[in-house]
Amino acid sequence: MSHATAPARVRFAPSPTGFLHLGGLRTALFDWLYAHHTGGQFILRIEDTDQKRYNPESLTNLMHSLRWLGLNWDEGPDIGGPHAPYVQSERKAIYQQYAGQLIAEGKAYRCYTTAAELEELRRQGKEYDRRHRWLTDAARAAFEAEGRTSVVRFAVPLEGVTTVHDVVRGDVTVDNRRIPVDPVLLKSDGMPTYHLAVVVDDHLMEITHILRGEEWLPSAPLHTLLYAALGWQCPYFVHLPVILDPSGKGKMSKRKPIVDGREMPVFVSDLMAEGYLADAVFNFLANTGWSFDGEREVFTREEAIARFDVADISAKATAVDYKKLEWLNGVYIRQMAPAELRQQLVPYLAPALGMPEETLAADPRLEQLIPLIQERMKYLTDATTLVDWAFARAEAITYPDPAALVGKKLTPAQSVEVLETGTALIRELEPFDEPSLEAAFRARAEAMGIKVGSFFAPFRVAITGKTVSPPLFESMVVLGREETLRRLANATETLRTYATQAV
Ligand code: GLU
Repeated sequence: MSHATAPARVRFAPSPTGFLHLGGLRTALFDWLYAHHTGGQFILRIEDTDQKRYNPESLTNLMHSLRWLGLNWDEGPDIGGPHAPYVQSERKAIYQQYAGQLIAEGKAYRCYTTAAELEELRRQGKEYDRRHRWLTDAARAAFEAEGRTSVVRFAVPLEGVTTVHDVVRGDVTVDNRRIPVDPVLLKSDGMPTYHLAVVVDDHLMEITHILRGEEWLPSAPLHTLLYAALGWQCPYFVHLPVILDPSGKGKMSKRKPIVDGREMPVFVSDLMAEGYLADAVFNFLANTGWSFDGEREVFTREEAIARFDVADISAKATAVDYKKLEWLNGVYIRQMAPAELRQQLVPYLAPALGMPEETLAADPRLEQLIPLIQERMKYLTDATTLVDWAFARAEAITYPDPAALVGKKLTPAQSVEVLETGTALIRELEPFDEPSLEAAFRARAEAMGIKVGSFFAPFRVAITGKTVSPPLFESMVVLGREETLRRLANATETLRTYATQAV
């Protein structure tokens, strides 16, 4: 089969019952990639026929999640398109028309079985028994006169086999007797079931390739029969392999898996909140169930589009490799232009620092800090603890453990002396920049016979309140001379008190 020659029409057809998770996002991504690879269209359709499970928040979450990853659709509920509407609950009349057609052709029938009768069957452990498949007109009229409501059921052929052509799995043939007995197509309230709606819409919307999770494979024989009954050509089925939890033992659940003591994201909203980059997630998911070339881990969207083909999708379930996602996220953070990184960081940092976004975005300290922290981040959220000290007031930098201000192999009193010496240097230094600071500090450490590490350490803690921070002298420059001196004065005083008590 050749798939890549003609522009494909591919749809993502979520049910708005919950938030979009990694598995759903991967399906949408493959849809999008294939549409772009073939120069076709990516269509968003909302399958909300199960009104009981409808969750109004989920639609907003869904669209926001897709846009975050950059998966823009060419046709959809918000933008319309040649086959509007793209929400199934708004298309009821269309499904009713086709149900009517199937009834007229003897391929479907009205069933008047009551809820109580169905319940009785269920209690006996039995399936529906086709009891109304061959009703006479008179019997049907009698049920109608009784005021019974009806559903429309599909008359599944009683013998023969059905072959599903799946691009990933090849041909799958099932005995028609294994297909559920006469499934409902139209419910008593006139709403279609998923099976009728999906087939009608995929046909009318001219979908060429149905990419969806493997869990829908068991429905494919029924869908294939429905296409035949309606006299339509079946699109290509492309059932995607399931995504397993990191242990590889079970399907992903809603519970966040723990990897190396850290809770890992399951929903797209978690990925956003936890500082993942859309580009990294795109790259990662593209390589989950499909592979760029079996080796390359890092590739651009354009490269993926050029190479992606449904024929190369794997049939094997894959476990989510969160360590790889974390690594990729770091790779993408490091290769980002500093201005872009700054822009992406602002929404995370501003609330954490208690600053309005515009104020932070315009703050020169943030611009100066970006190159100092870019190499040290795995997640955008890592930035907070790397930069918060720079935006704090001097009094907010406290030293609950004054011993941290003492350099290795130094006494508290010697550390006080180190801080005083450095303070004097900083007061005089011209220009106040990183190379001059570094040269002056190194020379003084040597003159005092103290290892540079021990000499620098008290300053790091003094200005940031932390033992781990961005490079010391650059950090001082970000603070500026006055603020650096203020913090050194506070730290020296704390350490002096500590040194007297310690003796
Ligand atoms: N509405 C189904 C879902 O929520 C989609 C099934 C399909 O793509 O055919 O997963």
